[in-house]
Amino acid sequence: MTDCIFCKIVAGEIPADKVYEDEDFLAFLDIHPINLGHTLLIPKKHYENLFDLPSDLLEKIGPKIQLIARAVLVGAGADALNLGMNNGASAGQLVGHAHLHLIPRFDDDGLQHWSAKEFSAEIFKETAEKIKKGL
Ligand code: AMP
Ligand code: ZN
Repeated sequence: MTDCIFCKIVAGEIPADKVYEDEDFLAFLDIHPINLGHTLLIPKKHYENLFDLPSDLLEKIGPKIQLIARAVLVGAGADALNLGMNNGASAGQLVGHAHLHLIPRFDDDGLQHWSAKEFSAEIFKETAEKIKKGL
C-alpha cells in the first residue's frame, strides 16, 4: 500500500532499526518506545490487522514471536516482556498495517497494568455465551 508507513519500511523507502527479517516478516525498533528495545513485528505484505491476516501467516508467526521475544528480552536486559496487538482504532491502532508490539519490561519501570471493571456473574455468563456463538 503506497501511503502505508510500514510498507515503506518494508520497501526500504524509509529507515528503520531492523532486528529480524525473513521472507514473510520484518521486526524493527519502535520509533517511540515504551521501554528501550520495544520492537514491532509485522508481516511484509499489507494486512490491516489481526482480522485480515491469512491463515498461512498466522501459522508461521507463532514461532517468530517466541524467537524475537527471547532476543528482545535478552538484548534489552529485561526482566519480562509484554506482547500486544492493537486491532482497530478504539483499541489504539494508529498504523493500519498489522503489527505486534514486543515490549521489554523491567521490575522498576513504573508502567501500570490495565485497570479492571466489575460485572455481575449473570453478565459474565451471558457474555461467555455470546462469545461462544461467534466461534
Ligand atoms: P499502534 O498504536 O499499535 O498502531 O502502534 C503503532 C506504533 O508504530 C507506535 O508505537 C509508533 O511509535 C510506531 N511507529 C510509527 N511510525 C514508526 C516508524 N517510522 N518506525 C518505527 N516505529 C514507528
Ligand atoms: Zn502497509
